[in-house]
Amino acid sequence: MVVDTETLSTETILERLISFDTTSRNSNLALINYIANLLKQNGIESVLIANDDKTKANLYASVGPQAAGGVMLSGHTDVVPIDGQDWTYPAFKLTKDNSRYYGRGTTDMKGFIACAITAAISAQRKTLNTPLHLAFSYDEEIGCVGVHSLLDMLSAAPNKPAMCIVGEPTELHVATKHKGKTAIIAYCTGTEGHSALAPNYQNAIHLACDLVDILRDTQAEIAAASSQPDDPHIPYTTVHAGRIHAGQALNIVPNLCSVNFEIRHPAIDDPMKVLDKIKSQADQLVKRIRQRFPAAGIEFEVLNAYPALDTPIDSDVVKFVQSLLGTNKTSFVAFGTEGGLFSQQLGVPTVVCGPGSMEQGHKPDEFIEAQQLQQCEAMLERLVEQLL
Ligand SMILES: [Zn+2]
Repeated sequence: MVVDTETLSTETILERLISFDTTSRNSNLALINYIANLLKQNGIESVLIANDDKTKANLYASVGPQAAGGVMLSGHTDVVPIDGQDWTYPAFKLTKDNSRYYGRGTTDMKGFIACAITAAISAQRKTLNTPLHLAFSYDEEIGCVGVHSLLDMLSAAPNKPAMCIVGEPTELHVATKHKGKTAIIAYCTGTEGHSALAPNYQNAIHLACDLVDILRDTQAEIAAASSQPDDPHIPYTTVHAGRIHAGQALNIVPNLCSVNFEIRHPAIDDPMKVLDKIKSQADQLVKRIRQRFPAAGIEFEVLNAYPALDTPIDSDVVKFVQSLLGTNKTSFVAFGTEGGLFSQQLGVPTVVCGPGSMEQGHKPDEFIEAQQLQQCEAMLERLVEQLL
């Protein structure tokens, strides 16, 4: 059965995609099943790769000959939470207002996914010489966690794509670089007791503050020796504490405090070297404190990590995507993507290029300009023509 083409515009697909609340903590299966069914109705088979408890899945689909090569369009299906944000438009219902589409995920990055589905369906109606692939993941927003099973499947597959476009919002500029990220949790331990006798106990929050001091000193040292002059955003590795959790009551000296922090680094820097330095300073600190409080300690655990993207500007994927857009420019995006994993782990040359702007990502009243969607559709139409 072929679905009536009149009802199948990028806008109607986007409307459906936005209607699924795929905040990373939720299942994405309803959305994935919608996409798989839509593709199937148009003659395209999908492979779903579920997580262990079968609540989420990646989707991979190919159009055209079963051969090596071709172009992979990559996007993540999850979105960031709307908790604590003041939305004036409904977050999970697409609203068109003048020239903009509003809703969570319009720019990051269901707009691109809608365009990619339209392009795949259009490609299926033609005879491709070279395949077009769709790769839609889950749990990207919590550290590119979900895509790993898709990477495993692709690395074991006989045929790999020749290149990949990650459609994160770049306003359709061709981004060849971004930083990598390592997320870490540090557990600072002390001893509990009545706060009236606070100096007799090791306060875990105080110890965590000393650790944060080490993080800040590390950042200052790195910044002084700036390592990536071509990054227009922050030209060096950054160290940032984003979450601290501790304390039961004001009158109890806390015995545990966790600090979530991250290291974001250009391709030339090794985040593990930065972490080793932080660890060795933390060890010295703990050694001093243990002379009086033997229970004091700081344990580190890497939660997740993805590599930087650093695609040479003279590579085929860069030239190819530039030709689709009629530009010879490249850019450097501040945010991370799955692109570094496709590039480093799978060996598939990758650029980041998608509609909309990250200026509107992760914010209330997230939107995408209708014109950006149209331009992305036009770019992918030209891409399909190149595959004929
Ligand atoms: Zn994104």
